[in-house]
Amino acid sequence: MKEMWPASQRQRVVLSFVLFGLAGLLVLFYPAGQGVGNGVQGWLTRWWGADSWVGLWVNVLALLVVAGCLLLLAKLVRSARDNQPYVFMSYVLFLFLVFFALERLVGYAFARMGVDGLGQSLLLQWLSAVIVTAVVAMILPHLRSLIEGQAIALKEHDKFLAAAESSLDDFYIFDGIPDASGAIVDFRFSYLNPNAERRLNLKRAELEGKVLTEVRPFMVQSGLIENYREVVRTGQPFIAEVFLDDDRIKATWINVQVVKLGDGIAITSRDVTERKRLTDHVSYLAHHDQLTGLPNRTLLYDRLRQAILRAQRHQQKIAVFMLDIDNFKQINDTLGHAEGDALLMAVGARLKSSIRDTDTIARMGGDEFVIVMTDFKSMDDVMRCGRQIVGRAAQPIQLGEREITVTVSVGLCLYPECGDDVEELLRKADAAMYVVKGTSRNGLYLYNEGMVGRSLSEIQEDERNDGLGRATEMH
Ligand code: GH3
Ligand code: MG
Repeated sequence: MKEMWPASQRQRVVLSFVLFGLAGLLVLFYPAGQGVGNGVQGWLTRWWGADSWVGLWVNVLALLVVAGCLLLLAKLVRSARDNQPYVFMSYVLFLFLVFFALERLVGYAFARMGVDGLGQSLLLQWLSAVIVTAVVAMILPHLRSLIEGQAIALKEHDKFLAAAESSLDDFYIFDGIPDASGAIVDFRFSYLNPNAERRLNLKRAELEGKVLTEVRPFMVQSGLIENYREVVRTGQPFIAEVFLDDDRIKATWINVQVVKLGDGIAITSRDVTERKRLTDHVSYLAHHDQLTGLPNRTLLYDRLRQAILRAQRHQQKIAVFMLDIDNFKQINDTLGHAEGDALLMAVGARLKSSIRDTDTIARMGGDEFVIVMTDFKSMDDVMRCGRQIVGRAAQPIQLGEREITVTVSVGLCLYPECGDDVEELLRKADAAMYVVKGTSRNGLYLYNEGMVGRSLSEIQEDERNDGLGRATEMH
């Protein structure tokens, strides 16, 4: 789209003179013979008579008067042009042109109608030209803004098309389809860019005007259409990462942004499958132990924190088991580090198979594991599970040709009895585990406040006197 008004000063001057020249030529040579020149000529010949020799000079004089007027006008225009904005000057010149054209046309019409009488026709001629010119002057700015508005709209449309067509994202515009109450319930394809065509594997000519839910029933099955309707209803954009898997788009993570556009919507979407796979992988690495594949310390803290919040809400208990393989260093020393690794993996897998899916087992580091158990019925339940863990860990493990037997020492503490924060629970489970390590290992010990600040032998003495003996859980 070209500029409405030429930009350079030279072009402006040339255009001014073209417009002005046209106005001048019209005044002087319009063939109807009823213009200003003829008017002045007629007025003069009335005084001196048309047939006399004076007539010729009068004609010449009349033309000279008009030419003089035009020169004066030209001078005025030139001097005004330097002070006034160009658009204003063009406007004034255009009105002159309109005025003279009208004046001529009206004069011609009067002559054709036989309305004569010099004074009357000249006055009417000028009056009507002034009125129509004034009207033109009034409506012209509106007309201009209308034309310019359309030109701007065209320009904007061109820009939009260039941006949308070359966008690396998929871009769609949908018109809303209202139900009987006027609420938008579905959408019709109005525009889609080449990327969107490729994504859907359909040409835009095939899609334009088609109903979204008919082309893609997946929108209804996944509930996405409800989000789109909500955008039109509330005007709030919908931004989400969604997984698409239908006959058009296979197993793809899409980052989608939907905004309201009149009664419809505009959708920008981007394939983020690869990025998601990478971030998922990075997140997996950050939250899992590489050797055993079990959740690591970071994820354990998170899970335990979540479990505490849930337990607080539902007045439930949590059991935290701290496990450490007994004499693991010996395995490393005798069989080598690689065998030690294999054993850690095997112990991890075995422990995992000893608990429910809803419970968490994590590797804290070295030969230390933590099990977080929720949703148990009674203390007996927990102790039974603990014993089971200790017992199953002690079963022989087949490592290649070799059969190895290891045992674990397990400390147990409970939320809320032992505390209500992650660090405290883990610290106390660890303390309970060290009570087992201090005895015969291969056993389970439940933390109790009585053991705090006392030596292991004192605790053991107490256990023996207790009769019921928490240490009876030890093997
Ligand atoms: P305790 O009965 O008191 O637990 O004695 P322990 O020999 O098991 O010793 P401790 O638990 O204090 O140390 C665990 C050892 O595990 C220390 C380290 O040499 C070894 N270890 C730590 N991480 C790894 C690992 O990733 N792979 C292997 N193979 N060994 C590890
Ligand atoms: Mg150990």
